[in-house]
Amino acid sequence: MYLAAVRTLSRLELVGETLRAALEELAEAAPAWLAPLIEPEWAKRYGRRVEIGKLPGGKAAVTTRAEEFGQDGQKILAAAWAASTPPHLRRLPQVEILRQVWVHHYYWDADGCLRWRDGHAPPPASLRFDSPYDTDAHYCVKRDTAWSGYRTHFTETCDEDCPELVVHVATTISTVQDIEMTDTIHDDLAERQLLPAEHVVDSGYISPARIERAQRVHGITLLGPVVADNSSQAKAGSGFDKAAFTIDWDNEQAICPRGATSVSWTELRMKGHTYLQARFTEADCRSCPDRTQCTSSATRPRSVAVLPRPLHEIQTRNRLEQQTEQWQRRYAIRAGIEATLSQNVRAHGLRRSHYRGLARTHVQHVLTAMACNVARVADWIDTAPKTRRGATRFRTLCSATA
Ligand code: SF4
Repeated sequence: MYLAAVRTLSRLELVGETLRAALEELAEAAPAWLAPLIEPEWAKRYGRRVEIGKLPGGKAAVTTRAEEFGQDGQKILAAAWAASTPPHLRRLPQVEILRQVWVHHYYWDADGCLRWRDGHAPPPASLRFDSPYDTDAHYCVKRDTAWSGYRTHFTETCDEDCPELVVHVATTISTVQDIEMTDTIHDDLAERQLLPAEHVVDSGYISPARIERAQRVHGITLLGPVVADNSSQAKAGSGFDKAAFTIDWDNEQAICPRGATSVSWTELRMKGHTYLQARFTEADCRSCPDRTQCTSSATRPRSVAVLPRPLHEIQTRNRLEQQTEQWQRRYAIRAGIEATLSQNVRAHGLRRSHYRGLARTHVQHVLTAMACNVARVADWIDTAPKTRRGATRFRTLCSATA
């Protein structure tokens, strides 16, 4: 969670501030073109930054104010796109942002009136802007944290007897999920010949498909907890979850704990993944004494959806292994990256971007990581001689008397 270097704006403030930014740009680029368009109340409305507290009158007042902004903005857009207007004016960055923000937040009703898009769902957060001054910053929610800005992904070494050094930094818009970055990070590390033998990640970066690709394409062991079975049976810890079924891959069948065999085997897509669904017969399930342990449906037979064989096997193996103490000990090393992020946030101000735009924000993150590396190498050089120092006189004496 990395905050953009912009003020947090309500939707109403956003449209007002977007129009103000466009007017500022036009006032500099084409004052003679803009002057005849200016309405008497615009100096008060857009002469300084738009800050709107709680409006008396509630939702209706918000809509009225938003539609005032909408009409004003539409006047500028219509003039900018008039045939007689020099084309370079509509290519000005803030004028283009004004056009896009108006598409995001207004619509034309059946009577041809411009309306505030309230109750008409605005575009998804990954498309709409949170500020006219940084259009790469997007609103995002992760668990109980909401922010407008970016995400960054640090990869560091964790070799014994060496300083932990950040070897890769990726910065994305906030709506890109962590899992989408795993392959990119591996490809980047491969390009720079920095691939590790083992890459330890948290559950956000790992899935059976990512483990399989990391091994197949780069020969890397991707270590992390794969998401647990989220079926109601697995969550409750009782009843027949997916692991209770035996999969006969050769015959494309599932065998349930009661020994019944599925009768259909179909491919389906769920959340972007391909699954194979095995379905049992109504005849078997209706008369089954364990029915309540198996399905919550009163009438329908049980079905089980599994990943394709190589991924299913990886998923099953990982889910078992990650319960063991040995795996937990091996995985504990991942906690080191939390210290690195904390150090960069607290000591080097990583949390808040000092620049606007994804490219500049990424440069900030890279420079921050470099500073962190330099400090760590300096610390290591400073302390390394002590660790390499010869035995103390007392220890030498002990060895001599032994
Ligand atoms: S309900 Fe159907 S699938 Fe489940 S155990 Fe009984 S027979 Fe097998």
